[in-house]
Amino acid sequence: MKILRQLLSKLQLLIMGTLMAAIVVIVGLSAIHFFPANVVRDSTPTVITSPESNPIKNDSIESIPTRELANNQPFLQHFPYAETNLEKLMIVGSYGKDEYQRFEQLNREAAQKLMQLIYAGRTEGIWIIVISGFRTIQQQQILWKTQVKKLGSEQQAAKFNAPPGYSEHHTGYAVDLGDGRFPNLDLTTEFENTTAFQWLKIHAQEYGFEMSFPPNNSQGISYEPWHWRFIGSPEAKTIFANAKNTKF
Ligand SMILES: [Zn+2]
Repeated sequence: MKILRQLLSKLQLLIMGTLMAAIVVIVGLSAIHFFPANVVRDSTPTVITSPESNPIKNDSIESIPTRELANNQPFLQHFPYAETNLEKLMIVGSYGKDEYQRFEQLNREAAQKLMQLIYAGRTEGIWIIVISGFRTIQQQQILWKTQVKKLGSEQQAAKFNAPPGYSEHHTGYAVDLGDGRFPNLDLTTEFENTTAFQWLKIHAQEYGFEMSFPPNNSQGISYEPWHWRFIGSPEAKTIFANAKNTKF
């Protein structure tokens, strides 16, 4: 009996030891498995902002008027807007062909309402397309520099484009729309003659959208019949409250 009991306790020790060893091995393997995954995930933003993929990075940071941004003050009659959280964005369409094709995104609530709007239009034979949605401050910097160069001064450029850090497109709640039948009228005031625009003028508000820069708008920005902002959620409404209530 004594020998049997000794044997049993030795067996118990052996089982316990094996279990412990197994746990150590499993934990070790999991660590090896998950650690590289984390490293890859953390390194993703570095890839996005690497000098190769974004050659104007340092340049843009220098020339963005941070004083006005920090004070929340308008600059050249444009209001400062923060870049939205990228995780909130959803693809709403694509624009351009082949190597120029790009996928445009909006904040989720705005995206869902825009989809409903586009489908509602489609049932009535209206073909609304998305030209441009969310834009980063760095992307706006490229547009801004081109416009300033073309028009000769920041004051002139500001009538047609927002400086980086001041575009409604940074919020993910603003979108440029076009008529799929008249691509040559994209981003021109003649877009107002299309059936897509006529339909938007009547129905956009039912989906929470309004034109940001109608003729003679209070901001003094040139008429942009293609540019619409979403005010259909409390968050979106708050973001554009200044732009709606200030007169220059
Ligand atoms: Zn726009």
